[in-house]
Amino acid sequence: MTALNAPIAAAEPMLRVENLTISFRTDEGPITPVQGVGFDVSEGRTLGLVGESGSGKSVSTKALMRLLPGSATIERGSRMRYVAKSGEAFEIEALRAGSRALRRLRGGEIGMIFQEPMASFSPVYTIGNQMIESIRLHRGMNAREARDEAVEMLTKVGISNPEGRVDQYPHELSGGMRQRAMIALALSAGPRLLIADEPTTALDVTIQAQVLALMGDLQRDLGMGLIFITHDLGVIAQIADDVAVMYLGAIVERGPAREVIRSPRHPYTRGLLDAIPTLDRLDARLKPVPGDIPSPSQRPSGCAFHPRCAQAIKGLCERKAPEETQMPGGRAVRCWLHAEGRSAA
Ligand code: SF4
Repeated sequence: MTALNAPIAAAEPMLRVENLTISFRTDEGPITPVQGVGFDVSEGRTLGLVGESGSGKSVSTKALMRLLPGSATIERGSRMRYVAKSGEAFEIEALRAGSRALRRLRGGEIGMIFQEPMASFSPVYTIGNQMIESIRLHRGMNAREARDEAVEMLTKVGISNPEGRVDQYPHELSGGMRQRAMIALALSAGPRLLIADEPTTALDVTIQAQVLALMGDLQRDLGMGLIFITHDLGVIAQIADDVAVMYLGAIVERGPAREVIRSPRHPYTRGLLDAIPTLDRLDARLKPVPGDIPSPSQRPSGCAFHPRCAQAIKGLCERKAPEETQMPGGRAVRCWLHAEGRSAA
C-alpha cells in the first residue's frame, strides 16, 4: 500500500520511523549502515540527529526522501510513516519510484537542505526561476503570485535587495547568501517537514549563528517539523527540542535535548560533549573521543562502541549488544551501564 487515507489519532506524530534497517551491496559483500533506527517528529518540533560521519544519520534521512542509491535496500520490517495535514498517511518504505505519491511527498510535504547549496540549485537558472517553478508546482499559484512569494521568501531568510537577487544566478551570491537562498528554495514548496543535513557546517561562525537563528524563527512561524543532522552537539543545544545520538547505524541515546546535554548517560554522548570547547573551560584540554568510528563492514562484536569506551565492562560489552533501556522523562539509552538490574554510572 502506498498511501493510506486512515484518520489519524490526535497524538500521532507527523513522522514515525520504526526499526529502519538499510543495507548496501558492496564489492566486499553486504553492509548494514543503519540498524533498527526509530524516532518521531511532531509538528513544530526539532529533532537533532547527532553523530560522527559514518554513524548512519544521513543515510537514514535520505531513506525518508527515498534518495538512496540503487545498491541500497530498505529491509523488511522497516517503517517510515508520514501523516500529511489532510490526514492522508504515507508508508514511505512502500512508495514506488516515480509514483505520484512520492513526487508529492518530496516536493510539497518534505523538503531537504544540504551542506553544499549548489547540490540544490541548478547553475543554469536564476534563483527566482527555480523558486517560482517550485511554488507554482506545489502551491498552485500563477506566475505573478509565485514571483511575489519568491521575493517574500528571500526577504524572510534575510537576503538584502530580494527584488534584485531573485534574478541572479546561484554563483553570483556569496556562500552565506547562497545558503539562505537554499533555505528559501526548500521552504518555497511549503514543506511541513524539513530535513537539514549539516546545513551550517561550511559557514563561518557568524553566518552559522545567523542561519541557525533564522531556521528556528521560520520553524516557529511556520510550525514545521525539523530534522537537523549534525556532528556537533553544541549546535543541537541551540536548536533542538529532542536529540537522537547515533553510533555505527544505531541510536545509542535519545531524549529531550536539554536533559541529554545536561546529563548524558551514554559514554559516547559524554565523549561528544567533552570534545566541545566552552567558555568556562577555555584552558582545559579538549578530549576528543579516542579512535575512529569503524566501517560498517567491520562492526565490532557486542556493543559496537566497546573498542573506544573507557567504561567498557570486560567480559560483557565485547560479547553482548545491550538493548535500549527506557528511562524517566522520555529518555532512552543503549548501554550496559544503565541496563535493567545494573546501577547507573
Ligand atoms: Fe561502553 Fe559497555 Fe556501555 Fe558500550 S555497553 S557504551 S562498551 S559501557
